[in-house]
Parts: sequence; structure tokens; C-alpha cells
Amino acid sequence: MNLFNVYPLYDIEPVKAKGSYLWDKNGVEYLDLYGGHAVISIGHSHPYYVAKLTEQLNNISFYSNSVKIPVQEALAEKLGKLSGYEDYSLFLCNSGAEANENALKLASFFNGRKKVIAFNKAFHGRTAGAVAVTDNKSIIAPINYDEHVSFLPLNDIEALKQHVTDETCAVIVEGIQGVGGIQVASEAFLQAARELCDKTGAILILDSVQCGYGRSGKFFSHQYANIHPDLMTTAKGMGNGFPIGGVLISPKFQAKFGMLGTTFGGNHLACTAAVAVLDVIKEENLIENAATLGDYLMTQLKQINGIKELRGRGLMIGIEFEQPVDAIRDALLFEHKIFCGYAGKHTLRLLPSLALTQTECDRFLEALQKVI
Ligand code: PLP
Repeated sequence: MNLFNVYPLYDIEPVKAKGSYLWDKNGVEYLDLYGGHAVISIGHSHPYYVAKLTEQLNNISFYSNSVKIPVQEALAEKLGKLSGYEDYSLFLCNSGAEANENALKLASFFNGRKKVIAFNKAFHGRTAGAVAVTDNKSIIAPINYDEHVSFLPLNDIEALKQHVTDETCAVIVEGIQGVGGIQVASEAFLQAARELCDKTGAILILDSVQCGYGRSGKFFSHQYANIHPDLMTTAKGMGNGFPIGGVLISPKFQAKFGMLGTTFGGNHLACTAAVAVLDVIKEENLIENAATLGDYLMTQLKQINGIKELRGRGLMIGIEFEQPVDAIRDALLFEHKIFCGYAGKHTLRLLPSLALTQTECDRFLEALQKVI
């Protein structure tokens, strides 16, 4: 059987990884500033994470959500404390798209409405509901939910005022758009969205799958705007490579048996990985590190000629060029052995581990200067 060929692949086969580094099967070392689409939050193969997962694997790796799984409660408690959302509840699932799917469902259960406001260039995942609120016409949902969705320009408060009405079920927005090119939702815009949702009874969903979990220099990027969403979705960095997603749910939602569900969501191994991630983020002050090194990178990047625009917060950085970015990205990878991502044709996307060091930043800055 062949693999269903949907991913264009680099001819690189990583066989080992540690911290911000990967090694391929020929022993070549790479600096990883992409973390497999923002997944590696605490660094590859962190020893504490490996030890906790190994210990769990030797005890019990899985049983269904029909029994008590204490590590789920430990995760909810630690996540509540570290994120500042102790009064919210947690629903656990397996991916970012699934988290968004459940958030949209919860919103509709709550107010009985169907219309959703989403934003130009938004990306929320590839399941049918998540695709419907994603602004990418090349991903086509097999079932058409799009008739209920309006796309507005990000940061356009007037458009928001016109479109959020008593018929709106939910507004779904990324605190910082990732795939859409590292566009930061402004503080005024998020505050306006909060106010309009309060006024109309719409539910405010912050998709924090890519920009959450400390990456922005705060636990959630919307915390720069001092707002409290009704629902927040997470995944990616939550498990540092172990698949896990979650919805943080405001106390105004009432849980009912059977309302949401999943077979794998909240399994012992995924929760153990997620607890280890939170322990390391706290113990090693990784949110502060993301803020400090993000500022450092931005300051240094501003001094490099040939960059059109810099966007982002913390360790979620978009570097836009006049020219298409493929050649720059390939030169960084093949000549300088540095993995970066891209967002759109012109933007290089950095999503490194939050444990990045200044030396690693300097290696990248030097290489980028040479390449451009
Ligand atoms: N939401 C955002 C903001 C994302 O960036 C992504 C993935 O890139 C998703 C949702 C979907 O997450 P997953 O691929 O885990 O389903």
C-alpha cells in the first residue's frame, strides 16, 4: 500500500531531535525554527517529558472516557492556573480542527443560532465545520456549511459592527493569524468583538491553536487585549508533538452528558504529555523566554535591509519580503541547515520552540543576512 500522496516532501529524513535541533539519517544537524507547524513548544525530546511519558506508558496508556482518568483533572487544574482561566472548564479532543468543531457546536447549542462571522485569511482546520470558517478556497468542504458564514476583513471594527447581529451564533478569530501570514488581531478589534458579542448574545471563540500556549509571550495572545473569550481552542504546542486538543469553556456553558464526545480525546498518554508541557513551561519560564527572545529577534530583524514588513508577537514571527520567499526558505534549509516555515508567497514564518536561546537566534540572523 502507498501513502495517499497529499504532502509535498523535502528529501530529508530526521531520525533524532533534541531541544531546537534535528539530525537527519546522514548525521546532518538542522536548527529547527518551525517546530513542525508550531507544535514543538518545550523543545524536542525534553528529558522531563520523555520520562513522564515513558512512566505513563509503563502504567496505562489508554482506557475510554467511561472511567476516571485523574491525569485529565491534573491537566485541567494546571492549565487553568497557568493560563489564568481557573473558572473555565476543559473539553479534551485530539487536534485543532476538532477543537474548533466542538467550539462551533457549543456556540450553536448555547444560543440556537447558525450564522458565523469569520475573517479573511483565517485558517481553522480541515474538518467540514472548520473548513467552512477557513478562508482558503483551495480547501473545499464536502458538505457545504458556507452559506452560514460571512468573512470580514481582520481588524475592521466598522465591518464587525455591521455584521454582528442578534442572529449571529459566533465570531471565530485567531489572536494572531498563523497560516494567513502572522496578522495580529488588534487589541481594539478584539475588545470591539467582545463588546458586540455581549450586546448581541453571540459567542466569541478565540482560536488559539497556533498563537496560544505561551507562544506570543503571554499564555494566550488575546490576553494583550485584556478580554475573556467565551471559548478558546488549543492544540499544537499543547502536547509538544503528542496529538491533543482542547476547548476552554466559560462558566456560562452548562455541560450535559452526551453533549460532546470522542474516543481518544483526553487519553492517559496525551494528558501526561500535556501536563509535562505545562510543568516545563512553568519551571523554565518559557513564556517569559518567548517574550524576551521575540523582542530580541524583532529588534535585530529591523536592522536587516531587504525586509518589507515584520509582524507577530513573541516567538510567532512573520518576515515579509517583496520577492517570493521560496528561494530564501530553501537557501536557509539547504545551505544553512535551518528549518523555517512560510505563510503565503512572500512571508517567512518562524515558530520555534519557546526554549529557543539567543545563540540560536544569532545563528538564524547571520544566515538570513547572508541569504538576502
Ligand atoms: N487553527 C489554527 C489557527 C491552525 O493554525 C491550525 C493548523 O494549522 C488549526 C486550527 C488546525 O489544527 P489541526 O491541524 O491540529 O487540526
